[in-house]
Amino acid sequence: MIRVENVGFAYNATSPNPIRALEGVSLQINKGEFVAIVGHNGSGKSTLAKHFNALLLPTEGDVWIDGINTKDKKSVWDIRQKVGMVFQNPDNQLVATVVEDDVAFGPENLGIPSEEIQRRTEEAMALMRLTEVRDKAPHMLSGGQKQRVAIAGILAMRSDYVVMDEPTSVLDPLGRLEVMESIRVLRREGITVILITHFMHEAIEADQVVVMDGGRMVMSGSPREVFAQADKLRSLSLDVPLVTQVAARLARMGLDIPPNVLSVEELMEYL
Ligand code: ADP
Ligand code: MG
Repeated sequence: MIRVENVGFAYNATSPNPIRALEGVSLQINKGEFVAIVGHNGSGKSTLAKHFNALLLPTEGDVWIDGINTKDKKSVWDIRQKVGMVFQNPDNQLVATVVEDDVAFGPENLGIPSEEIQRRTEEAMALMRLTEVRDKAPHMLSGGQKQRVAIAGILAMRSDYVVMDEPTSVLDPLGRLEVMESIRVLRREGITVILITHFMHEAIEADQVVVMDGGRMVMSGSPREVFAQADKLRSLSLDVPLVTQVAARLARMGLDIPPNVLSVEELMEYL
């Protein structure tokens, strides 16, 4: 379980002009959950993400990963193994010259025996559908494939949590679908997924949606609860998913459709 307790964070905290990026954030993420974090630019999403694996430490409050405080210096590597990170730009996170070596890179650094590394690498490549491109150079792959290599690397590390910071924002539509499919695979494997995204429809499948604004958590709940509040989201410069917008417009035209429709299938049902 990840517990964020009353966390505040300032960049350049000790300088005369600290930049406050998080204020009083509290949140709990249970094992196996899929949590989506949304919010406009500069709302503190990436800053919060970096608190989940001790890349940043709170200025106030605490972050606990399976009961370990991220401020506990001797547990940093333990935490980094538990919580894998996928960033926006896939080119900045691949290190090896062929896909297979890249997937094996994490466990190799953990000093795991080579047969075990081999087994984990095979399994991770199979889950991320990379076996066919195992001998390719990462730079020859599509953006979606590169993100799958990054995720496979985390699977090979046997991390329990995967934090993704806008993993689809520089990808083409196909790449975005590939990443969303990868999230479903991770969930089937029982891995907790924290997805930061500015595409609202990517949050529809989440168990919990967290909305950030000005470093604060301003809304949270199930996608249905959060996306029913279209006006509030709009006041935060956010939209509801397209299908929810269409349903709301039809409701205003007098059709008997609730304001929190989340999928095309559901809308068709009501129609
Ligand atoms: P988001 O990911 O939601 O766009 P960030 O967490 O990146 O938001 O940024 C939150 C706030 O912190 C913004 O005001 C941003 O300018 C500031 N900030 C982010 N990174 C740094 C940094 N390395 N140094 C100083 N300020 C930063
Ligand atoms: Mg960001």
